[in-house]
Amino acid sequence: MKDFVYTGLPARVVFGAGALRHLEREIEMLGSTRALVLCTPEQREQAQVIAERLKSRCVGVFDRAVMHVPIETAREAREQARALKADCAVAIGGGSTTGLGKAIALESSLPILAIPTTYAGSEMTPIYGLTEGGVKKTGRDPRVLPRTVIYDVNLTLSLPPALSATSGINAIAHAVEALYAQDSNPIMSLLAQEGIRALAQGLPGVVKAPQDLEARSQCLYGAWLCGAVLGSVGMALHHKLCHTLGGTFNLPHAETHTVVLPHAVAYNRAAAPEAMHAAATALGVADAARGLYALARTLGAPLALKDIGMREADLDRAAELATQSPYYNPRAVERPAIRRLLDDAYHGREPTRE
Ligand code: NAD
Repeated sequence: MKDFVYTGLPARVVFGAGALRHLEREIEMLGSTRALVLCTPEQREQAQVIAERLKSRCVGVFDRAVMHVPIETAREAREQARALKADCAVAIGGGSTTGLGKAIALESSLPILAIPTTYAGSEMTPIYGLTEGGVKKTGRDPRVLPRTVIYDVNLTLSLPPALSATSGINAIAHAVEALYAQDSNPIMSLLAQEGIRALAQGLPGVVKAPQDLEARSQCLYGAWLCGAVLGSVGMALHHKLCHTLGGTFNLPHAETHTVVLPHAVAYNRAAAPEAMHAAATALGVADAARGLYALARTLGAPLALKDIGMREADLDRAAELATQSPYYNPRAVERPAIRRLLDDAYHGREPTRE
């Protein structure tokens, strides 16, 4: 066994169908009396339910969370939190809303109570992102890690099947890369395998019957574990490629992860045999890359970059950007091979080559 360092990240997790009934207790435990509720415009109704539950403990709802946390939105939310003398941010939604809470906490150390409604996993990480002048910068800071996370399976029932599929594979991507992370450790590898297993088992049921509570529970549980590993160990090629494609070419976040993952895994196949074996076992297949491609196909998720807004003319530039600065990956990141990977992902080919 290789040497390792493991740091447990502190977070209180309350999980279950109907777990939102514990909200008042959890807010009290945080010592908060002036919560600011955050959401996207689309989830205003769910945020209103939270505000009504909290009664006088809620000082307002900020409903303008958007993807990638533009600095202007972060400034507005920070200003509102300051003006209302908020002592806690309650973020109900996906990674975009949690990200807005993090942007506030980064400046003010305001505690975050997160109520995730997608499988993105941001609620379990000390990673934040802010977009200024079209460039997204990410960083790590312990202040942005939510103190409490309420996973209420009921709140995920409205997540559309297509978004559930891509959001779930986005979560699986965190776990797969955790298995071959430079700083991997046995605890996180256990969580990663269980996260992959739970999502791979739950997602087909969710897509078939979005109201299936057991399948939804498996997925949210898996998303929690995958988020925890994302927060604990470093990522590699797959996340770098998705960051480049999302940031520079404005491709949608979860869909990009879904398309790229089988190809990034195929690229690393021979360089990380133990991780590949663990991922394949968790997926219940012989080969992780093909298994992930088959899972996406079964779920009716996008398989090709050309179908989610990528232009073929931009592939050279994408390969250049993704190989510009050095970063850890189990296999050396070489531009011609990355260009071939992107070509396969662009056309949606089954990942057979290494
Ligand atoms: P999102 O938060 O942008 O949500 C997508 C849309 O789905 C929004 O309109 C949202 O309101 C809606 N939605 C969410 N839950 C719903 C539900 N249950 N029912 C109906 N509609 C619902 O998408 P996301 O994929 O969760 O998050 C993506 C963002 O999170 C990206 O910016 C990504 O970079 C970031 N992220 C950050 C981390 C981190 O650790 N910092 C981790 C993962 C993702």
